[in-house]
Amino acid sequence: MGLLIKNGEIVTGDSRYVADIWCEGETITRIDHNIDPPAGGGEVIDASGKYVFPGFIDPHTHIYLPFMGTYSKDDYETGTKAALVGGTTTIFDMCCPSRSMEPGDGFETWKAQAKEKAACDYSFHMGVTRFDDNSAAQLRKIVAEGVQSFKIFLAYKGAFGIDDSELYQTLRLAKELGVLTTAHCENETLVAETQKKLLAEGITGPEGHHESRPPRVEAEGVNHLMTFAEMTGAPVYIVHLSCREALEEAIRARLRGVRVSVETLIQYLLLDKSHAERPDFEGSKYVMSPPLRDKKNQEALWNALRQGLIDTVGTDHAPFDFAVQKPMGRDDFTKIPNGIPALEDRINLLYTYGVRKGRFDLHTLVGVASTNAAKIFNLFPQKGTIQLGSDADLVIYDPDYRGKLSAGTHLMNIDYNAFEGWAIEGRPSVVTVRGEIAVRDGKFVGTVGRGRFLERSSGTTCA
Ligand SMILES: [Zn+2]
Repeated sequence: MGLLIKNGEIVTGDSRYVADIWCEGETITRIDHNIDPPAGGGEVIDASGKYVFPGFIDPHTHIYLPFMGTYSKDDYETGTKAALVGGTTTIFDMCCPSRSMEPGDGFETWKAQAKEKAACDYSFHMGVTRFDDNSAAQLRKIVAEGVQSFKIFLAYKGAFGIDDSELYQTLRLAKELGVLTTAHCENETLVAETQKKLLAEGITGPEGHHESRPPRVEAEGVNHLMTFAEMTGAPVYIVHLSCREALEEAIRARLRGVRVSVETLIQYLLLDKSHAERPDFEGSKYVMSPPLRDKKNQEALWNALRQGLIDTVGTDHAPFDFAVQKPMGRDDFTKIPNGIPALEDRINLLYTYGVRKGRFDLHTLVGVASTNAAKIFNLFPQKGTIQLGSDADLVIYDPDYRGKLSAGTHLMNIDYNAFEGWAIEGRPSVVTVRGEIAVRDGKFVGTVGRGRFLERSSGTTCA
């Protein structure tokens, strides 16, 4: 049995042509003109007038996340169904054990959460929330089991955050093992002190959140990481970069020879801090860290994507509901669970507001939302492109679709949509995971539990 996709316009990071794709089992085995339907049966999909993209990759999600005394709302079933309907076929979830949890136990916990539930393929970035000889030994084992990236927090004092000697030791180990370290960059002391100051002044609402973490706090975090990366020679990846000031620090470091990749999020490209200032606690829906910024940053981020200064666009998907969880911080913005859900909508928004608005081209879309992540995190060319031998993760994309985003129709397990009412001009009509059809016309038709843990091999291709 196989799957034949006919007459689609195949678009990868660097090529574009009309052809047929034959998938045998889980793999792309033939790309040619006028491939005949197989005599032995198999499904044939007519993709005329549609694009065929490689499956999209979200490099940064929190499907399972114990955080601020609660849990993010999705599980691997609801989260990966939502991802697939939106065209994302691979996710990198953050494995974030608390400081008191052993790394090995954390890794097993996250794997157990995903197993039998994930409908798309997945990998992890291994959170290093403590560093000592014992945790280092466990991290070596986890890396050997196929997790080729760490995640560290320079923020969240007392929760996930590590101190400078732990940061140094983590980067030394990462360098030795050829592992890429991803990092949340904000200066935790400045955040904590500014939070105290604002609360003392009586500023308690969601608008206090961005006031407590201004752009310079993030730029300082990036500068800090860049210095440690320079001193250790370890390659690093900045997660969820939100503003011009932080990007400038990364670019400066690149010129000094620091190996750094940069991720931004769809939220920073399209939402701004005025959303977090909405009355009646609506602003809490738009609280995440780093916070949404002044709108003028958006142009810098789009420009940086177009010109290759930013490598990837993720979501940092972390859904906390408006009914119960966000109100935990009704009288104190520092207690609002951080996160703006977007896993399902990232690609449709990037296509509509990136490609169709002329901010970047189709190849840049594929690059920043798929290919670059596959290369940076050692999944290329198994994932991230359409070529012989690649996994048959394909998104047949209908550019003629018109619709609106809404919590009433989305599959994410969350009671609001941060982009409620936003128009989209295109959506996936068919999505495949390793040769199996998982989505048809906005509906999940795949197999829960079929998603596979992707073991990644050693070495990093970080730019
Ligand atoms: Zn995150």
